[in-house]
Amino acid sequence: LKLQTMNPHDLIEYILGIMESRIKDKQLFLNVQMGPEIGEIPLDPGRFQQLVLNLVSNAIEASPVGGVIELHTGVSIPSEKALKAGSLESAGFFEMKIRNSGPVIPPEAMQKVFNPFYTTKQHGTGLGLTVSKKIVEDHLGSISVKSDKTGTIFTIWLPLIDSYE
Ligand code: ADP
Ligand code: MG
Repeated sequence: LKLQTMNPHDLIEYILGIMESRIKDKQLFLNVQMGPEIGEIPLDPGRFQQLVLNLVSNAIEASPVGGVIELHTGVSIPSEKALKAGSLESAGFFEMKIRNSGPVIPPEAMQKVFNPFYTTKQHGTGLGLTVSKKIVEDHLGSISVKSDKTGTIFTIWLPLIDSYE
C-alpha cells in the first residue's frame, strides 16, 4: 500500500470517465451525487481506482439495459457509543455507495460474493470483490452489501484521517 493524500472525488471522476462507453453501450443512466468536498484523505490512488472500477463494473454487468446506476459519496461520523467502546479509531469515514437494479443476491450468497473465484457469470473471474475487500481493509476501512428486489448496494467506508501506526 502506497498511501498518499488524494481527493477521492477526483479519482472517482477519472474512473467514471474511463467507463463512459461501457455505460453508454448498455444505455444506462449514471446518477452521481458527490457529497461535501472533504479534500484529501489517505489513499493509495491506484488501488482506490481499482476498487471503484471493480464495483462500477459489477454494477454495469448486473444492470438491465436502460437501468440506473447511482453512485453517492458522503461522510459518516461514528456514533459516540462506538467511539467510547473503542471499536473505531477514526474521526470519521468517507462513504461511497454504488447501487444498481438487476438480479438479487440471495441471502446464502451474501458472504460468498467476497470469496475468491465465486462468480455467477459465464466468464467471470470471481476475483473483483475479493480484491475490492482486500483494498478496503488495507485502508483500514470496511465494505458491506445489501440486496433485495429494489436493488443491490455496495457501500465502502474509508477513514478520513491517517490512523496507521
Ligand atoms: P465477477 O464479476 O468476476 O463474477 P466479483 O468478485 O466481482 O466477480 O463478483 C462476484 C459475484 O457477486 C458476481 O458473479 C455476482 O454474482 C455477484 N455480484 C457482484 N456485484 C453484484 C451486483 N452489483 N449486483 C448483483 N450481483 C453482484
Ligand atoms: Mg466483478
